[in-house]
Amino acid sequence: MKVNRLSIAASIVLVAMCCMFATAGSSCKQACATSSDSSSQEPTALAGDSSIPKGARILMSVYPDFVKDYKNGKLVMSDGSTITYDDGRKKSFVELLDDADPEDMFAFKYDLNSWTPGKMQDAGRSRCEALFKKMYGTSEGAVRKNLVPVRWPFGQATSGGGVNKNIKTVRFTKINGANKQLEKVVAELEKHPELHKYLAQSGAFYWRPVRGAKRLSAHSYGMTIDIGVKFSDYWRSHAKDENATVAYRNKYPHEIVEIFEKYGFIWGGRWYHYDTMHFEYRPEILMDARGK
Ligand SMILES: [Zn+2]
Repeated sequence: MKVNRLSIAASIVLVAMCCMFATAGSSCKQACATSSDSSSQEPTALAGDSSIPKGARILMSVYPDFVKDYKNGKLVMSDGSTITYDDGRKKSFVELLDDADPEDMFAFKYDLNSWTPGKMQDAGRSRCEALFKKMYGTSEGAVRKNLVPVRWPFGQATSGGGVNKNIKTVRFTKINGANKQLEKVVAELEKHPELHKYLAQSGAFYWRPVRGAKRLSAHSYGMTIDIGVKFSDYWRSHAKDENATVAYRNKYPHEIVEIFEKYGFIWGGRWYHYDTMHFEYRPEILMDARGK
């Protein structure tokens, strides 16, 4: 009994330390979720189970409030519903965006080692709508209920090209702790006055389809923010459709990107179809890119 009590105490300390020192919420959640599975419980599908596809394991790690298990080719959600992980269909580039299953979300490479995206590599633009609606809300009203104010001291862009400094908050979802991660981004950006001119926000939550497509924009889920619109480049201004060749453009300092990425946000400037003002909370894409 003494040994057991000691080992329980040790694991509690370990979990507490992990949560204190983890910089990104994802790694903390992963470690905490793993540690809380004590040996006295029924063995469940742990995040490290190699019989589960890597992408499914990543989703279970970074979205532990929602993705509870993987069984018979399906993600098992916290409400007991299931989502087919891989529909087995071979898809064109546009179908990977328009009709993604969870497996398709890992079809593209988010390359942390290059500042120029590979041809047709749009990691993160592929979103399984069933999964994202399950987590963030199935309607505009449902998503809105989960929005909370996050301090954004860099102002809001005005239509005239200026900055309204009186708007000091942005509404962001509390689901998956996305608001907390954005708060950490803000705290770090505040230490870099040389970056502040790029940081006026021009909107976070909008329930709307992607321009020129039927699928919902990431802004519909409340975990996405656009910043520095006057410095932004957007692929659609330079190409007629998604299959065309596009010359890469970017005017944002990479330091901003690295701060967002540290806390689980991907950058639209890492897409072949770039959208450089766009930052989106997608810890699964970063976990996959980092290989851990
Ligand atoms: Zn955007």
